[in-house]
Amino acid sequence: MKAVWAFDIGGTHLRAGWFPAAASTKDGSVPRVIPVKKAAWSGRTAESDLQDLEAMLSECLTEWGPPQAVGISIAAMLSPDQSRVVSWPNRPWWQDVDLADRLKRLVGAPVRLEDDAVAAVLGECVAGAAQGRTDVFMVTVGTGIGGGLVSGGRLLRGAHGWAGDFGHLRMTTTGPRCSCGRIGCLQAWASGPALLRAAQESAEAARLSPDAIFAAIREREPWTRAAVDQAVGWLAIGIANVVRLLDPVIVVIGGGVAQSIPAFAENLQAAVRQELGAHPANNVEVVLSSLGDDAGLYGAFSLHFEDKWRNR
Ligand SMILES: [Zn+2]
Repeated sequence: MKAVWAFDIGGTHLRAGWFPAAASTKDGSVPRVIPVKKAAWSGRTAESDLQDLEAMLSECLTEWGPPQAVGISIAAMLSPDQSRVVSWPNRPWWQDVDLADRLKRLVGAPVRLEDDAVAAVLGECVAGAAQGRTDVFMVTVGTGIGGGLVSGGRLLRGAHGWAGDFGHLRMTTTGPRCSCGRIGCLQAWASGPALLRAAQESAEAARLSPDAIFAAIREREPWTRAAVDQAVGWLAIGIANVVRLLDPVIVVIGGGVAQSIPAFAENLQAAVRQELGAHPANNVEVVLSSLGDDAGLYGAFSLHFEDKWRNR
């Protein structure tokens, strides 16, 4: 059976999933992802990364046969036509890589690329926590902070595909420096590394490794509470601003940090509603992603059926 392959290409890993294409197109339902392959990058050059990617595609070709189409969720800056990777802060040796064309030649099928946060919101809309909703904001909180927007049933990409760059909304003109070089971005206040840095200010953290500090955060040790509350507070301000701007009915929270901390979405929902005060949208739902790490795979798969999904 012809299939759609979905890839999730992240800063530290490669994942691939297989979806039966025929099942998805007849009644608009989305099949479950079947086998998921995983690999880690083996080197630190663009050519080495492309070889890792091509090795995984070749393995998929051997095991799964030729695909009908390939969708890719990638955490990089894409060209406006979404065919090339312009740059990638987490793997800076990627500069202007013609990724879609190179992979298309290898698999002999259409290849579509999408920003990882946009793919994740699409995945949650077609098969996850935002199923059936037409106005959705997805926030991912991990090493960085990402955002994906669906408004009136359409993905919002903007003029250059950069809409939803939530992590780099500037919250303050003083304070921590962001990975983008500027001071005071939301990501510098509320991402995983920011949370770690805030927790390290506590005396209890003095002799603990970063892993042990994150374990304490997951266990809700009282001394980590202030750091978590600070991250939740900054996220709530940013989310409430987006709710005022775009009026989503639901905000889906994904990413490794958000998913590992108990009651993170519940606390965030309370803080967002408080931040919105008497605003009519102050009953906005804030929920945890139901697809978890697979949201990007579902989104990458759905890229080829975007029109069908939109018209459902
Ligand atoms: Zn920034």
